[in-house]
Amino acid sequence: GKWVYTFGDGSAEGDASQRDLLGGKGANLAEMASLGLPVPPGMTITTEVCTYFYEHDRNYPPELEAEVNAALDKIAASTGRTFGDPKMPLLVSVRSGARISMPGMMDTVLNLGLNDDTVGALAENAGDERFAVDSYRRFIQMYGDVVLGVEMRNFDEHLEALKEEKGIELDTELTADDWRGLIEVYKELVLKETGKPFPQDPKDQLWGAIGAVFGSWRNDRAITYRRLHQIPERWGTAVTVQAMVFGNMGDTSATGVAFTRNPSTGEKQLYGEFLINAQGEDVVAGIRTPQDITERARIEAGSERPSLERSLPDAFKQFREVCDKLEGHYRDVQDLEFTIERGKLWMLQTRAGKRTAKAALKIAVDMVDEGLISEDEAVKRIEPNSLDQLLHPMIDPKAKTDQFAKALPASPGAASGEIVFTSEEAERLAASGRPCILCRIETSPEDISGMHAAGGIFTTRGGMTSHAAVVARGMGKPCVSGAGGVKIDYAKGTISSNGVTLKAGDKITIDGGTGEVFVGEVPMLKPELSGDFQRLMGWADGTRRMRVRTNADTPHDAKTAREFGAEGIGLCRTEHMFFDPARIMAMREMILADDTDGRRAALDKLLPMQREDFTQLFEIMAGLPVTIRLLDPPLHEFIPHTDEEISDVARALGADPEKLKNRARMLAEFNPMLGHRGVRLAVSYPEIAEMQARAIFEAAIAAAQKTGAPVVPEVMVPLVGLKSELEFVKKRIDATAKAVSEETGQTFTYQVGTMVELPRAALNADKIAEQAEFFSFGTNDLTQTTFGISRDDAGVFLGSYLREAIIDVDPFVSLDTEGVGELIRIGAERGRATRPDIKLGICGEHGGDPASIKFCETVKLDYVSCSPFRVPIARLAAAQAAL
Ligand code: ADP
Ligand code: MG
Ligand code: MG
Repeated sequence: GKWVYTFGDGSAEGDASQRDLLGGKGANLAEMASLGLPVPPGMTITTEVCTYFYEHDRNYPPELEAEVNAALDKIAASTGRTFGDPKMPLLVSVRSGARISMPGMMDTVLNLGLNDDTVGALAENAGDERFAVDSYRRFIQMYGDVVLGVEMRNFDEHLEALKEEKGIELDTELTADDWRGLIEVYKELVLKETGKPFPQDPKDQLWGAIGAVFGSWRNDRAITYRRLHQIPERWGTAVTVQAMVFGNMGDTSATGVAFTRNPSTGEKQLYGEFLINAQGEDVVAGIRTPQDITERARIEAGSERPSLERSLPDAFKQFREVCDKLEGHYRDVQDLEFTIERGKLWMLQTRAGKRTAKAALKIAVDMVDEGLISEDEAVKRIEPNSLDQLLHPMIDPKAKTDQFAKALPASPGAASGEIVFTSEEAERLAASGRPCILCRIETSPEDISGMHAAGGIFTTRGGMTSHAAVVARGMGKPCVSGAGGVKIDYAKGTISSNGVTLKAGDKITIDGGTGEVFVGEVPMLKPELSGDFQRLMGWADGTRRMRVRTNADTPHDAKTAREFGAEGIGLCRTEHMFFDPARIMAMREMILADDTDGRRAALDKLLPMQREDFTQLFEIMAGLPVTIRLLDPPLHEFIPHTDEEISDVARALGADPEKLKNRARMLAEFNPMLGHRGVRLAVSYPEIAEMQARAIFEAAIAAAQKTGAPVVPEVMVPLVGLKSELEFVKKRIDATAKAVSEETGQTFTYQVGTMVELPRAALNADKIAEQAEFFSFGTNDLTQTTFGISRDDAGVFLGSYLREAIIDVDPFVSLDTEGVGELIRIGAERGRATRPDIKLGICGEHGGDPASIKFCETVKLDYVSCSPFRVPIARLAAAQAAL
């Protein structure tokens, strides 16, 4: 195979479509080079090499070295520089790049090729001694950290000590001599820590860096990031080796990052930050607070520091043209990294800009109005899961607030919680269900789990493109950043602003939409869904074939789901109604009664309550279909355990507590989830199914009378494996319907169907469909019963499966299309063979998961059903699946 792809000088071997092979970064660098944009020449070593590397005990394909050398020759020809040349040394960066960008998760090495000899040539060529030694010390630090495993803080200690000794604060105040001295100290440090001198041969440096970047695919933070974003382990990273350009060559040099539109609001305005005389990560690392790129943004922020537009107008003009060109070419917002070397612009990266859901909607709708993309494309552009962000609460404008600080609105949404200063603490609190706000001077990729655990993030350093801001927007978490006046003291565990000091555990509220931070908990409101949202969802609804229903057990959930556009209830679980403390007593009486009469007496108490539950649901759904599942959970879960509970039931039943205790013991199960539950309950206690059916039908009549809309209830029997089981229960449901109809003199229609959640049911769907008028694939249990994995216990071991790349995603989160999906396909086909108009839906957690919804479209289900807050997500995902 071909392992290396070159780019530069107006052409490239790869292009933007090859992100799987070249990584996003490498593919887009190739594309930019072909577009004739100023890109330093380089090569990309493919992701296939990464796969090979891990499959061959960290060795490379034998042909790789020759291919890399050939590519280096090309770079040399283009730049007039070669590795180790005493006059014109080639310096490169070694950069990571996966298919999907994983910002800051993997490693990059800059200034590679510098050594004790070439540093002199760099100084001479640049006519700048200080610049050259600054680059060299940066290289030793970065290479030492990334490749040799000498942690960054070891180097920083020496740097800080030197600054202290000299009584200065900023790195920029250090002289060439200072750096030269520090370089010797750094080299000694490397020797001491690794037992070997710092490598001087550029080729050795290069292979060391390539190995480290491939190795960084499996560092802890990259693994965590992939787990959180469901990125498969096996994808691997590409490595890009690229000629260096320098943003740290004095006052006409700079480095920066930008978005072609505002990533937070979606407004059509170039947006970005830069630093003069700086390199690489300086901007995002939050070490110095960056300057705004445009004059407009500078004025809005009230900053005194000059914009790029003012300080380097020619480079700015050129940059703006590149932005327009790239946005037009990709027809999407771009997130750009650039460097200006002595007034000349160089492009170092472009990718589709990560944006908030609000911005994504505005951009998609604006681009339709600008004629840049079609409505269908707009629908495809929005990541369905991101809509979740829009459903976040916001601060009640009428609330009385006590402002603690105001800083940058880095990621929208509001959140309240206890102040925590470390990621560990955030995770600890989250684990015990206590909301918290992670407060940091700045965040680093190590903080990713803590950021995930926290309800929101607040940092005192860094701009809108800082690590905290980018990651928070990606997660849909509220974030306020760059609160310069706020002081955090980690040692004391305090945070102070304007003379007010708060400590860990105190409550604060942040508003990531305005940048405000308040003392205490502030009341919140449900969000208003914007005009852009309505327009886009309108396009989506016009496109999709599948209906979207909701899983709702309570009137509150049903109402919320209706507001989000649910078109019926796909699953109403009646057991939640039974676990209500007021009702569980009657339920226990029913179970522990030793004859049918005793059971009926208890059920008579439950009937009016159930009827009332259903009446409310039917009224809210006003004529839309409602599927009600008969009692499903293991009997085990209702059995009283403590002596006190048992004597309560005994008193109510007028029975002997000892006898009851025996009966409870008899009913206990070893494996309740495969035990006395589902249709098996209805077979042992047909009275329960009869009572529920009666409640449903009586409620249907009552609701129809109230709303004037006919209700067609769908009665669903769970956990059926045999046609004869369903037949047994259906007979009783039909008889109950007949009785209710005769008693009331009302006619009504209804359907009886089943949940397909056992492999046997899917395989025998043709026979079961003789009895069932609809199927709902209960994919939670179907996943459990297909894999033979207990979903309540899976958390313990599925983590290892994901880490070891044995599976790509948790099958309880995203449908296993190969196995469980195959059963669904078989079930759907065989069901339709018997009953062509059989109604088919899905009601597991998967009904709200976009990837699973896509699968549902391929087997042509009639609807998906999901929790209320996922309804908009499912509507959009169903539209995307249909496109
Ligand atoms: P990440 O994926 O973490 O963003 P990058 O590979 O993009 O890592 O490198 C980080 C930064 O390093 C870039 O934004 C750029 O500023 C700088 N950089 C990378 N390669 C070069 C280069 N060839 N010349 C100058 N700067 C570079
Ligand atoms: Mg980058
Ligand atoms: Mg089930």
